[in-house]
Amino acid sequence: MRKFYITTPIYYVNDRPHIGHAYATFSADTIARYHRLIGEPTMFLTGTDENAEKNVESATAAGETDVQHYIDRMSALWQVTWDELGISNDDFIRTTEERHLRGVEKFWQAVEQSGDIYKGQYEGLYCIGCEAFYRESDLTPEGLCPLHKRKPELVKEENYFFRVSKYKDALLRYHNEHPTFAAPASRRQEVLRYITDHLEDVSISRTAKGWGIPVPGDASQVIYVWFDALINYLTAVGYGTDDETFAKWWPADMHLVGKDIIKFHCALWPAMLLSAGLPLPAQVFAHGFFTISEEKISKSLGNAIDPRDLVETYGVDALRYFLLREIPFGGDGDFSIERLAGRYDSDLASGLGNYVSRILALTKGVEMLTVGNDLKVVFDETWKSYHRHFAANEPGRVLEVIWQVLKEGDRYIDECAPWALKKDAEKTDELAVVLGTLIESLRQLAWLLTPFMPETAMKIFTSLGWQDELKRSLTEASVWGAQTHGPVVATTDPLFPRLTA
Ligand SMILES: [Zn+2]
Repeated sequence: MRKFYITTPIYYVNDRPHIGHAYATFSADTIARYHRLIGEPTMFLTGTDENAEKNVESATAAGETDVQHYIDRMSALWQVTWDELGISNDDFIRTTEERHLRGVEKFWQAVEQSGDIYKGQYEGLYCIGCEAFYRESDLTPEGLCPLHKRKPELVKEENYFFRVSKYKDALLRYHNEHPTFAAPASRRQEVLRYITDHLEDVSISRTAKGWGIPVPGDASQVIYVWFDALINYLTAVGYGTDDETFAKWWPADMHLVGKDIIKFHCALWPAMLLSAGLPLPAQVFAHGFFTISEEKISKSLGNAIDPRDLVETYGVDALRYFLLREIPFGGDGDFSIERLAGRYDSDLASGLGNYVSRILALTKGVEMLTVGNDLKVVFDETWKSYHRHFAANEPGRVLEVIWQVLKEGDRYIDECAPWALKKDAEKTDELAVVLGTLIESLRQLAWLLTPFMPETAMKIFTSLGWQDELKRSLTEASVWGAQTHGPVVATTDPLFPRLTA
């Protein structure tokens, strides 16, 4: 039985969700909804990364003495945001949860048993804000962290190391045998070059300073970033706590990540899994970053838009539509309120919204409806492209295809001029076919839109009295004319009301 397991990165708990996080999470949500639509048991995971040492600092800065309390409050903010945005995640993992701790310990021990963990001297310039070591040449001319503009600490300590270098050949072989493991294709060369030229053993622990997961058997050290954070993908589906669930979901089918962490996910992560004797995920897909009105999203610029503010004006579905349509999946893009407002007007209010209200208004009070075949081929072809583009990780292209079919529908209305047929008593049969065909186009359209705009799709079904549509299988429902009972046409409020400036 096929299944689909998709993950987002776990988000740093001391950030606040901004539009960039929403974009990543909407993308994963759309893909997860698509897999549910085609009938695959689906697991969609997101969560928060909570063991970073800098959380102690952030808690203090926020005036909290109790770090756990601070983290609980911040993690709740993420969960509430995703709830308000209608994200359909099946689980939410927090890395301070017991199930995670147990899995991390088990994983460490498995890697240790493979002989891949050893003690070594680590020395480096460490920025606590970045949780990363810098080379002298990476710092600003004043010797500061380029991101945080603070002086990194010279850290020299004995740490545990992971023998990732041992897996170089195995990794290259895996990438060769699985050319779509690192995706999109544009990222693959970067990953291969990294493995070939820069794969060095990595330090995987730090001196314990009161926060983090202790190294099993050595409480003087805590497990550092990757050997803690990445393990969430395993622990959420039962690694270390529930073997049956784990066997059901692992390996993951898609890790959706930002392009800045694809190297870790395509080199370090598979090496860790090989060492622990676990199967490797099918794909790591890197989405691009976007700027806001051509500026990088940053705290100092104060342009880190809260997605919930946009949703107040435009609604969740319009924001989902805009982000997935406007930003090529896997590439970079730019966000601007003007373009969001523009797409809202042209594609949603005038496009989709108008198409739906036009047909509902024409059909209201008409008793006889017969589904004709005039739009059958158009929709049959649309479904083919729809599945093809989803399989190729091109959700933006899927939306283009759907809006193409809308155009065809509009053209059909203009050609058939049902308003004229309505006035002619001898054209009742012809009218029934035109309107029946158009109603069927709405039913098909709502199915097509479901992964992208779930609320809108449901409103369309509801206005036709087909609230139970989604209980059917797509295979059955996507057949042209597969209506189980006639529509009960009810006009509704506009799906995308015009916004007054
Ligand atoms: Zn920094």
